[in-house]
Amino acid sequence: MEDLYLSVIIPCYNEEAVINETYERVKRVLCDNGINRHEIIFINDGSRDETFNTLKMIAAADKEVKLVDFSRNFGHQPAVTAGIHFASGDIAIIIDADLQDPPELFPAMIEVYKKEHCHVVYGVREEREGESWMKKITARYFYKLIKNLSETPVPLDTGDFRLIDKAIINEFKKITESNKFIRGIISWIGFKQVPFYYKRNERLAGKTKYPVRKMIRFAMTGIMYFSKKPLKICVTIGLFCTVLALFLILYVLYGYFFSDKAVSGWASTLIIVIFFSGIQLVSLGLVAQYVANIFDEVKNRPEYIIAQKINF
Ligand code: UDP
Ligand code: MG
Repeated sequence: MEDLYLSVIIPCYNEEAVINETYERVKRVLCDNGINRHEIIFINDGSRDETFNTLKMIAAADKEVKLVDFSRNFGHQPAVTAGIHFASGDIAIIIDADLQDPPELFPAMIEVYKKEHCHVVYGVREEREGESWMKKITARYFYKLIKNLSETPVPLDTGDFRLIDKAIINEFKKITESNKFIRGIISWIGFKQVPFYYKRNERLAGKTKYPVRKMIRFAMTGIMYFSKKPLKICVTIGLFCTVLALFLILYVLYGYFFSDKAVSGWASTLIIVIFFSGIQLVSLGLVAQYVANIFDEVKNRPEYIIAQKINF
């Protein structure tokens, strides 16, 4: 493994409870396996705890540790994006700070990368330990949903824990979308991509930084940036309703003219009106959300702002 220069990318948001251990374990794996040419890039995503100070101390003692400090909390995906932008390795591995994905797998991933002559080795979670059933169920259905909706195949149960090489890094840098759904984008870039099955552990310490609100936003970005199918579904529902209404009109007219059972009653009418207003509002809201995304993109603001860089 002497030949490859490896960049490890670690986004951190309020990770004071784990960050030292994370550094130690990553560093140990690199040293024990003779991956001597490496850099460890920590992105401090506007942490409000001791994360940054701890990272500064680590960076002062180890010149191979590079530190990108954001001006505020921009989110996990922007943090990973910055990591990829600053990675100078031949290959890069993206890993969370909470050690849910074991750094001990790096050598095996690099092995797969070399053996398969591929450009991406993406981690697939075979098992998830210590995550709430809510998280497991929502994650499961989210990945299924996105697989069905997406115009680019996004592999099931795959997070951002993955190895990417220079070719992918260079293509990624050209992508200027400001709301990035990274796992989708990397899939979209193409080249040979190989799965790597592993067991996801429990978070070492601290709480998840992905509350439901962030999870929903993340899922929405994933779906909307990779699929126009929701819009088509609206059109289909609209057409179905129109046809249904035409038949109902015929039925009512028939009842009025040819049979003595003229249709009466307001309750059914009211229910139908409310039901279809609901569908209309949801569809309108969906379209508005796509427009809002366009608005975000058109503004063309940077994805993140850097307060300082250390050891670059
Ligand atoms: N993270 C980040 N910015 C955020 C939220 C999370 O940089 O706004 C980092 C976090 O420090 C961790 C990774 O993203 O390294 C994944 O977050 P977390 O483990 O909380 O998510 P989960 O595994 O629960 O989905
Ligand atoms: Mg985690």
